[in-house]
Amino acid sequence: MEDITRGGQFLVKETKCDNIFTPEDFSEEQIMMRDSVKEFVDKEIWPNKVRFEAKDYAFTEECMKKAGEMGFLSVAVPEAYGGMGMGFVDTCLVCDYISGATGSFSTAFGAHTGIGTMPITLYGTEEQKQKYVPKLASGEWFGAYCLTEPGAGSDANSGKTKAVLSADGKYYSITGGKMWISNAGFCSLFIVFARIEDDKNITGFIVENDPSNGITMNEEEHKLGIRASSTRQVFFADTKVPVENMLAGRGEGFKIAMNALNVGRIKLAAACLDAQRRVTSNAVHYANDRIQFNVPISSFGAIRYKLAEMATSAYAGESAVYRAAKDIETRIKIRESEGASHQEAELKGVEEFAIECSILKVAVSEDVQNCADEGIQIYGGMGFSEDTPMESAW
Ligand SMILES: Cc1cc2nc3c(=O)[nH]c(=O)nc-3n(C[C@H](O)[C@H](O)[C@H](O)COP(=O)(O)OP(=O)(O)OC[C@H]3O[C@@H](n4cnc5c(N)ncnc54)[C@H](O)[C@@H]3O)c2cc1C
Repeated sequence: MEDITRGGQFLVKETKCDNIFTPEDFSEEQIMMRDSVKEFVDKEIWPNKVRFEAKDYAFTEECMKKAGEMGFLSVAVPEAYGGMGMGFVDTCLVCDYISGATGSFSTAFGAHTGIGTMPITLYGTEEQKQKYVPKLASGEWFGAYCLTEPGAGSDANSGKTKAVLSADGKYYSITGGKMWISNAGFCSLFIVFARIEDDKNITGFIVENDPSNGITMNEEEHKLGIRASSTRQVFFADTKVPVENMLAGRGEGFKIAMNALNVGRIKLAAACLDAQRRVTSNAVHYANDRIQFNVPISSFGAIRYKLAEMATSAYAGESAVYRAAKDIETRIKIRESEGASHQEAELKGVEEFAIECSILKVAVSEDVQNCADEGIQIYGGMGFSEDTPMESAW
C-alpha cells in the first residue's frame, strides 16, 4: 500500500517501475475491448469521414445508436443502472480508440457519456438514476449539458438562466438561453444549470427534451471543425421541471459542473491518442510512397524528424494517460474498500489526480494538433486537400 503513488507525487517521490502501468499491462479483456472498438471505428466511422465533414448530423446520431448497441456507451456506468461497470482504465481505453477517426463522433460520444450522463450517475438520487441512466447507457436516449450562456463562458457560475419554484412547490420554471450545446440536435435530456432567486451558486436540473414544454433551439452552428457534431443554442421559456429533477441540492450546480469537467480532462487527453496514431501511420505510408528527387520523401532528414516528433508525442501521451488512469483507478478501488460509494470514490479519486489530468488535457490536445500540422506538411500540397485524411484531422 505504501508504494501507491498519490496525486501529484510523481513530482516529489520516486516511483517504482513495477507500479507504473503501461499499455503493455492491458489484460486480455481490455485488449478484446480495444479490438472491438477499433473494429467498430474501422468499419463504421473511418470509411465515412466524408459524411462527417459534410455535416451529416443524422449520420452522427446513427453511429451513436450503433455504439449504444455495441455497449460502448455504458462502459463507465455501474451495472445497477444497465452499464458494464468497468474500471477507469477501460473507460479511457474506449474513449481513446473510439475517438481517433473523427472529432465529430468523438465529441458526440464524449458529451453524451461524460457531461451528459455523469452528472446523474455521480450526483443523482436513486430514483433519478433508475429512471434515466439505463436509457442513456443503452443509447435509447442521448444526453446534453447546458452550462454555457452568451454572457457566461469561462465564468460559468455567472449564468442568468433562472429557476423559479411554483406556488404549489411541485416544479421549477426554467427560463434562459444556453449556447454551444453539444448533442442538442438529437438529445432526449438536458442537464441544465440555472439560478434560484439570488443564490450565490447555480443549481443543476435534469430536463427532458420536450418542445411542448417551452424548449426551442437555433439551427446548427457552422464550425471550424468537428462539423457533424451537433452544436446549437437552446432556449428555455417557462420550462416546467418537477422538483424531484433537481440534481444534488440547491446551489450545488457549480460543484457538479466543475467535477463533471474535471473527470473530462483525462478523457479528453485519451480521446486525442488514437488520432495521433492514425495521423502518424498515414503520414509514414505517404512518405514512403511519395517520390521526389527520385527517392521516397521518407529518406529526407526533415521528414524523418517530423515523423520522429509525431511518434514521440504519441508514445509519451499514451504512456502518461494510462499511467495516470491506472493510478486513479487504484485510488478509486482503495476508497471503495474503505466504504465510500462508487460515486464518492470516483469523484475523490479523480480530484486527487487533478494535476495529472490537467497536464494531460493541455499536453495531449496540443500534441494532436501539432501531429496533424506535421502530417499536413508531410503530405505537402495534398495535405491541404479534402481527399487526404490530414485536412480533416487538422
Ligand atoms: C465545439 C464546442 C462545443 C461545446 N459544447 C458545450 C456543451 O456541450 N455545453 C456547454 O455548456 N458548453 C459547451 N461549449 C462551450 C465551452 O464550454 C465554452 O466555449 C468555454 O467554457 C469558454 O467560454 P467562452 O467561449 O465564452 O470563452 P470566454 O470565457 O469568453 O474566453 C475567451 C478567452 O478568454 C480567456 N479567459 C477567460 N477567463 C480568463 C481568465 N480568468 N484568465 C485568463 N484568460 C481568461 C479564455 O481562456 C479564452 O481564451 C462548447 C464550445 C465549443 C466550441
